[in-house]
Order: sequence, then structure tokens, then C-alpha cells
Amino acid sequence: MKIVRVEAIPLRIPVNFGDLGIDHPGFNSITHVEVETDTGLIGYGMTSITQARPVAEAVNSVLGPEIVDLNALFHEEVWNRMYWKATPWGQTGYASHAISAIDLALWDIKGKACEQPVWQVLGGARSALPIYATCGFSFLDDDELVDVVKHVVALGFRGVKLQVGRPGLGGGETSPALNDLIKSDVKRVKAIRSAVGPNIEIAVDAACRLDLPSARKLCQALEELDIAFFEEPIVQNDVRLMAELRRETSIPITAGQNEGLAYRFRDMLLAGAVDVIQPNAIITGGMTQCVRIAGMASAFNVPISNGGGAPLHNAHLQAGLSVGTAVEYQFNTVAAGDVLYGEKPVQTDGLMSMSDEPGFGLTPNPDVLKSARDDG
Ligand SMILES: [Mg+2]
Repeated sequence: MKIVRVEAIPLRIPVNFGDLGIDHPGFNSITHVEVETDTGLIGYGMTSITQARPVAEAVNSVLGPEIVDLNALFHEEVWNRMYWKATPWGQTGYASHAISAIDLALWDIKGKACEQPVWQVLGGARSALPIYATCGFSFLDDDELVDVVKHVVALGFRGVKLQVGRPGLGGGETSPALNDLIKSDVKRVKAIRSAVGPNIEIAVDAACRLDLPSARKLCQALEELDIAFFEEPIVQNDVRLMAELRRETSIPITAGQNEGLAYRFRDMLLAGAVDVIQPNAIITGGMTQCVRIAGMASAFNVPISNGGGAPLHNAHLQAGLSVGTAVEYQFNTVAAGDVLYGEKPVQTDGLMSMSDEPGFGLTPNPDVLKSARDDG
């Protein structure tokens, strides 16, 4: 089954947060990728959480021409060709996004060729999995935050995740001092705990924006609030510093949603830096590399979980493998997926059910591919 066409389309998809009961218009940047084969089968992949245009350019002018004529079912051969073409010195960046989007399209083809959903091709570990809601956005004021979290719990979610430490080290000169940020975050998490009671899981996510002293201070203040996990507490996912933090706190540490290389997870596992790793199928080299990483996690008796949204794709990884656990319902990316594919995860009492549609079961709306196209 030969690859005959590889095409990426950069998209800027308008989203709102109507599902959270608030009006906050914005955009979600997605690179949509199509891989067509000589049998007529077309696979769809995507990547996000970066700029869509340079990723689309990398697919269209570098990786696509490299893999045309290869067998679409030979994902290891295609992955290695892409790796050595775009990241031969171990770089990550945009290239890692581009590789992921193409690889997902290949897994979509594989599922369609087998007439099975990707999660079943991977191993079919479970047909339903826990789904938690990322709804504690930093743009919400303290009152809105409590209202939004209550709204989400009323929808049936059993776990919520809040953004903390924003903008932190990435905020430049105008950013509040880290100390002030931490105080404000503690106040917000306390307000949420008292609003939802003891039976709802609360997680926090600093998205690599804190230094060790600030992350340590936040952990010390949050210990008593029964935090489910602290995601990406430290700048650059610095493995040595995360390991130090983990030794000091009882709050479980998670990381990995934007990593591009498998060895980064190996180092986190070897250093005892994390309780859970979070390879992200849309960024961490697609399904092909996420499966390798999941194998390492299994050997360390450490679970994998989804951070970084894109639940429509990541749910297949988590449901397919026995080392998988939960998927993230990130309202922003869910809204974008709803616009692009007309699909969003179906959540009932904190569980998402997997569908039996072949591949990822996602077909892009051709009108959106035209109307949301981002040519700059
Ligand atoms: Mg995150």
C-alpha cells in the first residue's frame, strides 16, 4: 500500500468556551495532515500546541516528499525516514510535531485497512477510560473559576485540572513575581477544594513555568488539599530538579506532554523524577514512538496518562495499552475538534467510551479546512 500524497493544511480554528458556561472567544492552532495511498485509503492526522504554519511547511516541503512511495503500513520504516530527515541530531521542535501528525495519519490508515479502531489495533486494553476536565484556566477570575469548576462537576466529571504558575518564567518583565503567583494559586486551589468537597480529584499544571523554589513552595502549601498530581512543575521539565522536588513532596509528579524524544522519558524514569509519564500522541512522535515510550513505562511499573489535550487521538493510546490510564478533556482542544471533525469525547460519570469506528473515526469537515485555513 504505497503513499501517493502527503498534504498539510495549517488551521486557525475559532473556539469558544460555551460548554463551560462562559463567553471567551479565541482560536486553536492545528496542523491537519492527510496521507493518501494508492488503494484510495486516506489517513488523517493532526498536531497542535504550536504554530501551525511552520509545521505544515515542514510536512509539505520536507517530510512529505521523503516518504512518498513508501508502504503506508510500514510505520517503523516511515518513522525512521522522517526522523533522520528532520531531526538527525536529536532536535525536536516543529519537526517533532510534523512527524507526529504524519504518523497519526498512518495509524488512521492502518486502522481503516484492518477495519478496526486504532485502540483495538494497539491492543484493546479497555473500551472505556477515566476522563478528567481541564477547566481551571488562568484567564478566569477567582469567582468565575469556582463557578466553572462547579459547572464541570455538575456535568459528571470526577476530576478537574487547574492552571497554576502562569505566566511564570515565560511572562517576561511584566509578569507578577513568582511569589505572588504562588500565593494567588494557593488561594484559588483552596477555593476549589472547599467548593467541590473531598471526593473530586484536583490536579494542577504549571506547564514548565516555575523554578524549583517556587514549585517547592506551591507543593508545601497544597499538600493538605489532597492534590491528585502536579503536572510539569519545573522549567524545561528539568529531570534533575523534578527528581529533587518529587523526593520532597507527597504530591505525585507528572510530565512529558510536549517532549519529542523517547530518551527524555527514559531519563525521567531512571531518575525517579515522575509518578506518571505523559507522552502525547500529537507531539511525541505519534503512536509509533508513544508505544515505545509506553513499553518503557511498563517496565518501570509507572503508568502513562494523557496531558496536552487532543483526547480524540490520545484516548486510543490510553485505551489501547494496559499501561494507559486517563485522558484529558481540555475544553479548548475539545471545542476545536468539535469544529473540525464534528466529534467530541462522550463523557458519562467521569468515563469516556471508545467508539468502534475504523482508524481514529475522525473525518475533517471540508468547509472548515477552507474557512479556517491559516495562510498568514
Ligand atoms: Mg499540561
